[in-house]
Amino acid sequence: MTKRKIAIIGLGKIAQDQHLPVIDKSDSFELVAVTSQRGLTHRGVPTFKTPAEMYRAIPDLEAVSICTPPDVRHGFAIEALDAGKDLLLEKPTAATLAEAADIAAHAKKRGRVIFATWHSQFNPAVDEATALLAGAGVKSLRIEWREDVRKWHPGQDWVWEPGGFGVFDPGINALSIFVKILPFTPFVKSAELTYPANRQTPIGVKVAFSGTDPDSPALSADFDWREQGDEKWHIEIESKGGHKLRLFRGGASLSVDGHVTVEQPSEEYERIYERFAELLDRRESDYDTSPLQLVGDAMMVGRRLTTDPFDW
Ligand code: NAP
Repeated sequence: MTKRKIAIIGLGKIAQDQHLPVIDKSDSFELVAVTSQRGLTHRGVPTFKTPAEMYRAIPDLEAVSICTPPDVRHGFAIEALDAGKDLLLEKPTAATLAEAADIAAHAKKRGRVIFATWHSQFNPAVDEATALLAGAGVKSLRIEWREDVRKWHPGQDWVWEPGGFGVFDPGINALSIFVKILPFTPFVKSAELTYPANRQTPIGVKVAFSGTDPDSPALSADFDWREQGDEKWHIEIESKGGHKLRLFRGGASLSVDGHVTVEQPSEEYERIYERFAELLDRRESDYDTSPLQLVGDAMMVGRRLTTDPFDW
C-alpha cells in the first residue's frame, strides 16, 4: 500500500511523545518533512523554518498535522488549506470559536479533509461507557481532572498567556469525553474560574452543567492544576438504573459497580491516525468543536476569583 505523505508543524512535547513515533510505525502515513522554528529534525527528514518553504519544496505533500499551541493554529490551518493540504489538528482546535468555524468554512471551500482530534475520546473504555449510557441514561456525572501543572507543562509559559487555556488545556480532554458519552446535549449553567494574580488564564475551574435530558441530571466538573502527587483524571457517573460507572486513567479504564470492565494500554494516537487514514480514504471530515464551545461558554458566564501568584 502506498503511504500518504504527511508533515508535522511544531515539534514540541506532543509531537515528540506521540505524533512522530506513531507516524514512524504507521502503515498509512510516511513522514516526509517537519516544520520547526527551532530547527529540530527527525530521522533525517527535511526540516523547514516555515510551512510556506515546506509547501514550495515538497509539492506532493498530502497532509499536515498541526501540533503548535492553539493561538497560532488558525493561521497555519488556513495556509495549509490554501496550499491544498488535508489537515489533522491537535486539540483544542483553535484559540476561538470564530477561528474554528473559519477553518471549517475554508476547508469546505477548498475541498479538503479536516480532522479536529480529541485524543481522550480514542479509548475503548470511552466507547464502552458511551454504549452503556446510550441505553441506561444518566442520573449524575462528576468530572474530576486534577494534576500538577509543574509536572505536566514544565516551562510552557504559553498556557498562562491569553489564548493558552490555562487549566482548560487538560480540562478540555475531560470535556471531549463528556460530550461523547452523554446521550444528550450539555450546557454550561455556571462556572467559577480561579486565576493566579500574576497570570492570564485559570489555575482552577469548577463548572455546573445542565442538559437537554428532561430529568435534569446533576453534572459537574472540577479542573485543577494544584494537585500534588498522583493526577486524578476520572469521571464518575451514576446511570438512571443506579449503576456506578467510573472512567479513570484519563479515559483508558472503565469500572462498572466496582468491577474493572475495560483496562487497556493507551493507544490514543494510533487510533487517531487510523481514523485520519479512514477519513482521507472517504474524503470526509470529522470536526466536532463542542468541547471548545463548553470552554468558551464557561469563560463567558463564569465568575472570576483571584488566588496567589503562580511561578514555576
Ligand atoms: P509545546 O511543547 O510547547 O510545543 C509546541 C511547539 O509548537 C513548540 O515547541 C514549537 O515547536 C511550536 N511553536 C510554538 N509556538 C509557535 C509559534 N508561535 N509558531 C510556530 N510554531 C510554534 O506544546 P505541546 O505540549 O506539544 O502542546 C501543543 C498542542 O498539543 C497544544 O494545543 C496541547 O493542548 C496539545 N496537546 C498536548 C499534550 C501534552 O501532553 N503536552 C497532549 C495532547 C495534546 P518548534 O520550535 O519545533 O516549531
